[in-house]
Parts: sequence; C-alpha cells; structure tokens
Amino acid sequence: MKSILRLLMQNLRDGSITLPYPERPAIQSNFRGMVQNEPEECTGCGLCAYVCTSSAITVLRVLDGFQWNYDPGQCTFCARCTQRCPKHALTMEGTRPPVYQLRGALRQSHDVKKKKKPAGTPIGPLPIEAAGSKDMVAGIGEQGEVR
Ligand code: SF4
Ligand code: SF4
Repeated sequence: MKSILRLLMQNLRDGSITLPYPERPAIQSNFRGMVQNEPEECTGCGLCAYVCTSSAITVLRVLDGFQWNYDPGQCTFCARCTQRCPKHALTMEGTRPPVYQLRGALRQSHDVKKKKKPAGTPIGPLPIEAAGSKDMVAGIGEQGEVR
C-alpha cells in the first residue's frame, strides 16, 4: 500500500508525459517515413513489390511501360524495398506521414516509361575471372562453342 502511495505521489509530482494533440514527440534523424519513387530512375522491374511483405507496393504492366503504386496505409516502413531497388530509385521521407481518415487516402501512383536498352550491347557469358574457371562459364565449351 505504501509503495502504491509513493508511486502515486511521484506521478503527481512529475506531471503528465502525454502530449496533447496536435503536439507530437520529436523524430529521430534516421526516421523512416513514406517511400518515394524517382520515376526517371525506376525501370519497373518489380523487385520492390516482390520484397514487400505487406503488399504496399504493386507494379502493373500498362501499354507503354509500367505503373508503380504505393499505399502508405499498408506500409510497415521496414525499408526492404529501398534496400533492394537495383536502381536506387526509392528513398524514405524523414517526416511522419500526414494524418488521414479514409483508407487509401495517401495512395500514390507513378507511370514508368519503358526504358530502352542501349543498342549493340550483346549478352555474353560471365568473364572467366568472375566464373573461377573456363569450365564453369555456363553454356560455353573449351573451344568457345555453345553447348
Ligand atoms: S522502384 Fe526500383 S525495384 Fe521498384 S520497380 Fe522501380 S527499379 Fe524496380
Ligand atoms: S517500406 Fe517495407 S512495407 Fe513499406 S513499401 Fe517498402 S517493403 Fe513494403
């Protein structure tokens, strides 16, 4: 009983630590906010959608390219998509998402134009140094013939 009274007195002495709306606690420097896409860099490969376990990102094929969709309401802000994007097209805002009331209110879409590959770049086997030995270069025999 004594300890409860002591705790009660301490709480009364320290005052409330709950911030009244709309005040909010300060955010950390490495805060992970909403995901942002840079459509100029994005190739529409869909890897971000593949690694997103909460299906917050979808990439749809459209007539002349892709449509990149993101719903922050489904996002857990894990940053897997930003870490896996091969083109480094994704970043995360350093601020809190805005307050919203309706599901899908923060949803966003970007049209990604199909990127043309530079002409005259043949697809070749791995360089021998990278593969370890000539025998390990997939599909290429000793004399360089295709198996
Ligand atoms: S954002 Fe990155 S991972 Fe996602 S589709 Fe574009 S290039 Fe691919
Ligand atoms: S931060 Fe995580 S949950 Fe949010 S879109 Fe990226 S992979 Fe999905």
